[in-house]
Amino acid sequence: MSRGCCPDYETSPKAPQETVTEVCCELHPPQKCGPAKCPECGELGKTVQRITLGALLRPEKRPEIPKQKEFCFCRSATCAIVYFAPDRVLFRKDDLSVAVGLKEPQDPAAPVCYCFGWTPEKIQAEIRNTGKSTVTDQIKAQVKAGNCYCEVTNPQGTCCLGDVSKAVKEIKEKVRLEI
Ligand SMILES: [Zn+2]
Repeated sequence: MSRGCCPDYETSPKAPQETVTEVCCELHPPQKCGPAKCPECGELGKTVQRITLGALLRPEKRPEIPKQKEFCFCRSATCAIVYFAPDRVLFRKDDLSVAVGLKEPQDPAAPVCYCFGWTPEKIQAEIRNTGKSTVTDQIKAQVKAGNCYCEVTNPQGTCCLGDVSKAVKEIKEKVRLEI
């Protein structure tokens, strides 16, 4: 199974705005982490560059980064492993200086978009106040303006738009059910 730059977006049947994929995948071409699977949960890994680990691991963990260019990121929400090599576990959630939003689905303050600080609670506040969400449009505009730094802000090392689109959809549904 291919897991690209915008995996949730690409596989979503109800996603008519192709521009989301165009804009972000232009900057961050989809990459697969070989055929490597997470040693703990078995999920297929997604490639991240060394700079992402260097930027997001706690300072005391940086000396432990093995000498190689690319690493694998585990996308499984229920797995505590964040980075691994094809043959071993390297770093877990606690080894990072930021919360991995993807792995904290119950935490409304865990970031969905790291470059511009969007969290589920901020997205929800806008939807409650205005009845709609401008988050993906705002992020797309910033990406076009060259203001996105996913390699060093997002633990996945890639564009967040797929995850943001998914979060917006889920929050809209939740707010609708509450009304
Ligand atoms: Zn895993």
